Amino acid sequence: MGGRGTSSAATGAGEGWSPGGEPPDLVVHAAGALVGGGLRPATVTVVAGVVREVLPLDRAVRGERTLELARGEVLLPGLVDTHVHVNEPGRTEWEGFATATRAAAHGGVTTILDMPLNSLPPTLDPAALQAKRAAATAAGLAVDVGFWGGLVPANAGSVRALHEAGAFGVKAFLQDSGVPEFPPVDAAGLRRGMAQLAGTGSVVLVHAEDPAVLAAAPGPQGRSYPAFVASRPPAAEAAAVRTVVEAAAATGCRAHVVHVSSAAGVAVLRQAKAAGVPVTAETCPHYLALAAEDVPDGAPQFKCCPPVRGRADADALWEGLLDGTLDVVVSDHSPSTPQLKHLDTGDLGTAWGGISSLEVGLRVVWTAAHERGVGLDLVADLMARRTADLAGLPRKGRIAPGADADLVVFDPGAEDVLRAADLHHRHPVSPYEGMRVRGAVRLALLRGTDCRAGDRRGRLLVPERP
Ligand SMILES: [Zn+2]
Repeated sequence: MGGRGTSSAATGAGEGWSPGGEPPDLVVHAAGALVGGGLRPATVTVVAGVVREVLPLDRAVRGERTLELARGEVLLPGLVDTHVHVNEPGRTEWEGFATATRAAAHGGVTTILDMPLNSLPPTLDPAALQAKRAAATAAGLAVDVGFWGGLVPANAGSVRALHEAGAFGVKAFLQDSGVPEFPPVDAAGLRRGMAQLAGTGSVVLVHAEDPAVLAAAPGPQGRSYPAFVASRPPAAEAAAVRTVVEAAAATGCRAHVVHVSSAAGVAVLRQAKAAGVPVTAETCPHYLALAAEDVPDGAPQFKCCPPVRGRADADALWEGLLDGTLDVVVSDHSPSTPQLKHLDTGDLGTAWGGISSLEVGLRVVWTAAHERGVGLDLVADLMARRTADLAGLPRKGRIAPGADADLVVFDPGAEDVLRAADLHHRHPVSPYEGMRVRGAVRLALLRGTDCRAGDRRGRLLVPERP
């Protein structure tokens, strides 16, 4: 960051302070800033951690501090990652708020929403949500954090209490979640929960793999990656997405399908959207940037559920993003201990499924996007404004007057080789080890202050829906 009032723009006389009283705390000059959906030159003024104005670049404005972006750097809104498993309290040895939020800050992610499972207790009632908040506060947060609740058979009739307590929505599984304290709902249970939340503005997130289709597939075992993929076929995703779409249509409750992985899933969603069903969907960096053809056998760092599939599926996911069938890109950051990953035996049947990509998601997605001729403006929109809108955070994910000054300086032309040991989440396990990526996060501001050093300036968030 530039020193106090040292840049040429800041010393330029003439127009002086922008209207509105006291001088800005921070003035940012960027030849490229993501404003209103496109990259354009802008001067951004910040007062008390909030963007006050977005002005033409040539406007001379004096501020307490001035930040002049270097040639080639762009100013993005801080990313909003709505799919993160922090696992604290209860499985803090897998990850935790301090490590997850520091990894987020280094990845240009200034807001995360924590998933309700893998922590103990799981976030299934207001008391558990309060336990989450207490754990997060005690751990200290480098970035802002909000919470999803969970929908399971036992709380399907009372899930509205989580909404009223400030959960952003609730997540459900249709098949085994991987942890016994978070059992799946069937189609009737899903509808029961959705009926409770219809009309509230809340949303039900669903991990969509159909249990009957999974049960009919060969079980995963051993080191073969193709065998693991065959154990979780695209037909399971397509069937489960149909179940979700039917529940959304029947109840009128917003539904959101998490981590779509297949062309078959995209096709069902495309039809549902055309029919006007209130459903949105996400995909993740690993489905967009990795391909089954390149995944070695016996490498559980690549294991996640649903699995990374073949190149044709990745192509279909990109198509879905480009035509609006898929709405957002999120990390599904889901760490565990290295022991649970069974890196020693490489057994894909017993290894924990989950990929930790909070810190590398922007670079990995931007690298894949660039190869396909997709612009950084769309990438940033998919990972910031649209995720903020999905969650109900109108002051996040955008560079606009009144929004929090969560700002990221990104150098899209930089090149780097990813090393798990350099990352800030708890355990240095990553399928991206050795991957050549484009882009570098040069600075991440949370309400105008650099958040990468691990300062505990992050706050707890609740949704702001009309
Ligand atoms: Zn997840």
